[in-house]
Amino acid sequence: MKEYDVVIVGAGPAGSTFSWKLDNDYRSLLIDKRSFDQKKTCAGLLTERAIEYLKKNDLTMDEKVLSKPEKLKQVYLDWDNNEENRNGNLMNVDRVNFDKWLNSLIDQDVETKFNTRYNGHKNKNGHLELYLKGENGEKKIKTSYLIGCDGSASKVRNTCDIPPNKHRIGLQKKTDLDIENAYFVFDEEINSFYSWLVPKDRFTLIGSSFNHSKNLDRFKIFESKIKERFGKFDTYDEEVAPMTMPQKNWLHFGNERVILCGEAAGLISPSSGEGISYALRSGDRAAKTFDKIEDNILNSYKESMKEVVDEILEKKRKQSIIESPEKRIKLFS
Ligand SMILES: Cc1cc2nc3c(=O)[nH]c(=O)nc-3n(C[C@H](O)[C@H](O)[C@H](O)COP(=O)(O)OP(=O)(O)OC[C@H]3O[C@@H](n4cnc5c(N)ncnc54)[C@H](O)[C@@H]3O)c2cc1C
Repeated sequence: MKEYDVVIVGAGPAGSTFSWKLDNDYRSLLIDKRSFDQKKTCAGLLTERAIEYLKKNDLTMDEKVLSKPEKLKQVYLDWDNNEENRNGNLMNVDRVNFDKWLNSLIDQDVETKFNTRYNGHKNKNGHLELYLKGENGEKKIKTSYLIGCDGSASKVRNTCDIPPNKHRIGLQKKTDLDIENAYFVFDEEINSFYSWLVPKDRFTLIGSSFNHSKNLDRFKIFESKIKERFGKFDTYDEEVAPMTMPQKNWLHFGNERVILCGEAAGLISPSSGEGISYALRSGDRAAKTFDKIEDNILNSYKESMKEVVDEILEKKRKQSIIESPEKRIKLFS
């Protein structure tokens, strides 16, 4: 049975950052169930925190990673209160190319296998036995540490008996609308979260999220309100994906031999659903805890994430204000 020090499941922003930052001395394997050319349901917006992380690491994205317009004004449209508010800038990326680019930063010493699915693991006398399924069938491998970077519906998290993330359903469509800004719409008739319109190269993405599949029909209300306010449009692709819905005690960082990063750990902004900046920072911090392996990895990692957790809990408080049209008007005005 092949043996590793560290196996990373998931080559999204958390897994790629972890693999890039991990010390080369470890025998490490990065796997992902998809191939990189598959679509990823995401609005592809980088917040200031994500941009700050890239700058701090002297990273400049290739031109093909950026979507047009590259910089977007963030505009809040409060349709409950008929208010409009401008708030900062966002960077616009092509999400598939962004993930590919992050992956290209990883040192060749990290063995990488795509189209390989993690199906579970067991603790066996001081190491972990992992069950994988790849192009050549099923396989068992051994590892000392397992890094779960497998996103919102994390199988690694579930296999560790950690309560699974609860989900909203994100629904996104491509349209031929022509707009210049990124709009975030608050409207109780549509949902209790928000909906978005994001220009992306030749298209505009429109999206929303719903607590229950029976509410997916409300997307039609969103579409008809867009038509009233922005004009007619045709839609092309439709994508659906789970979005972590932060509830009580939803953040978990793993156990003795398993570390969770990114959305697998529940790291997402409760007020905006933004997760890329948390994936980058948690992947980075988890890898750095492996620099001093004599310490308790989980405790060092948790310690390094304290300030990020505080930031998220602050956003959770903000979310309860945003949800209420009466309270929201005070926040936006
Ligand atoms: C509709 C929508 C819009 C969003 N828009 C934005 C946005 O504009 N900006 C933003 O910051 N965030 C956005 N997010 C959130 C963002 O996409 C995630 O928070 C971010 O991708 C988390 O990164 P990650 O590396 O933790 O996980 P992911 O990016 O989800 O990567 C997980 C990886 O694990 C792999 N994987 C999963 N299970 C297995 C398995 N069993 N075996 C092997 N591999 C596996 C997957 O193939 C995937 O590549 C959006 C989310 C949704 C649903």
